Amino acid sequence: MRLSKLFTKTQKTTPAGEVSANAKLLIQAGYIHKEMAGVYAYMPLGLKVVEKIKQVVREEMEAIDSQELIMTNLQRPEVWKQTDRWDDKNVDVWFKTKLQDGNELGLAWSHEEPILDLMRHHVHSYKDLPASVYQFQTKLRNELRAKSGIMRGREFVMKDMYSLHATQADMDEYYEKAIEAYKKIYERLGIGDETFVTFASGGAFTKFSHEFQTICSAGEDTLFVNKEKTIAVNEEVLDDATKEIGVDKKTLKPVVTAEVGNIFKFGTEKSEKMNVVFTDKDGKQKPVYLASYGVGVTRVMGVIVEKFADDNGLVWPKEVAPFDVHLALLGDEQRKHAEAVYEELMSKGISVLFDDRDISVGQKLGDADMLGMPVRLVIGNKTGDKVEYKERTQQKTELLALEQVLAKLK
Ligand code: ATP
Ligand code: MG
Repeated sequence: MRLSKLFTKTQKTTPAGEVSANAKLLIQAGYIHKEMAGVYAYMPLGLKVVEKIKQVVREEMEAIDSQELIMTNLQRPEVWKQTDRWDDKNVDVWFKTKLQDGNELGLAWSHEEPILDLMRHHVHSYKDLPASVYQFQTKLRNELRAKSGIMRGREFVMKDMYSLHATQADMDEYYEKAIEAYKKIYERLGIGDETFVTFASGGAFTKFSHEFQTICSAGEDTLFVNKEKTIAVNEEVLDDATKEIGVDKKTLKPVVTAEVGNIFKFGTEKSEKMNVVFTDKDGKQKPVYLASYGVGVTRVMGVIVEKFADDNGLVWPKEVAPFDVHLALLGDEQRKHAEAVYEELMSKGISVLFDDRDISVGQKLGDADMLGMPVRLVIGNKTGDKVEYKERTQQKTELLALEQVLAKLK
């Protein structure tokens, strides 16, 4: 993609009226647009990041045999009334609306009940189980506070997966597989080292759920972890969980984190209330076991921004960067050379953001830093037939032949 064709512009100053670092940076770099508090549009570069994150998540969900679908944003109240979650007293983030005939509708804040209701049309017998489905959906939540930029939106992208099982043992086994899949996801997204599987509050079926919490100073949670970081407990359940797993509270140290994922076993709690049953081997009707698994796709993007950005702008890990390479042409002498390199890189399957604009050197290098691609290549009056190579996280530059650059990018 040519920067001369990209309609979004970087801004010299940080946007007024935005308090969160992730949103400030992303707006300044033209990745997102703030529509109102907690509501952001994703511009072409921002959308590429979202899609990259989704692709990583998608691959790991497919690897544990989950199937992608997409549910609806408009929801029927009856579905939620069965579990008493239509009531605003029980769910405080509902956005609701009305049809012209006056009938109420809900705007999707979650799909837990709707998925069970949907699956009853396809799951009849033990032979139809297990079944695992997932989607990427824009969830709408009337959050009280929206001061964390894209880390807490009133509109945000979530991946939600749901697995249905005939037995608890089967659910438990799949749940463990999902934990491993989640670890791979955060690893691939570049935040694996600082993301912990955490004991968190559960529901009626299990005492604890599991959260995936990433160390992040802009996060809203406090986690208690031991030195080896093998145990992590959410503050909410600190007393209960330490008792249960037999560790001394004093050996756990607090750290500020952001919740990037949350997985739950509902067991038969919901299916009993909603009467979602299957015919088992013994011919008896039994409620299905349900577990649900969320990843905050756009929150993860915010966490990545917060964790890696430096004073000069965004810094993207390889797997989520909108482009592999930022190629900047300085001056005009080497334009032909730069055009040839642009074509050559793309022919090798490398995605390139090519700054072919007629602007100052300072502006070009500043934009390269602000936009944050992992590798910057410069071709200019001083580079001759070579290419200057620099990684976004390093100060060092190297003058290399194109073949050497290609070898490094492999
Ligand atoms: P939180 O405790 O942060 O409000 P939650 O427990 O209500 O989140 P879940 O319903 O478990 O969230 O949603 C699954 C994931 O979606 C969360 O782990 C989080 O990463 C993400 N998420 C939740 N709410 C938001 C939001 N308002 N904006 C962006 N991401 C969110
Ligand atoms: Mg949660």
